[in-house]
Amino acid sequence: MEPNEQNRQYLPIEPDKGYPAGKNLYYECLVCGDVIPSMPDDDTNCKCRNIMIDVGFSRMVIEYPTKARCFSVSRRTPDK
Ligand SMILES: [Zn+2]
Repeated sequence: MEPNEQNRQYLPIEPDKGYPAGKNLYYECLVCGDVIPSMPDDDTNCKCRNIMIDVGFSRMVIEYPTKARCFSVSRRTPDK
């Protein structure tokens, strides 16, 4: 099984402006190393609960924003 090569582009996190969310945006917790999607199907949190996403309220809470990173993944879309 080949590892899926992904292009990660890190974005600045500005808690004052709210956290960006998108289908190709992910959050990486620098405390526990978990990576969670910014638009999960269900409530999600990283292992250490530094990053918590509440889908019902479309709310994202990051306890320590300096210990988290946001990145977008550009996937190669099939030509067609
Ligand atoms: Zn964590």
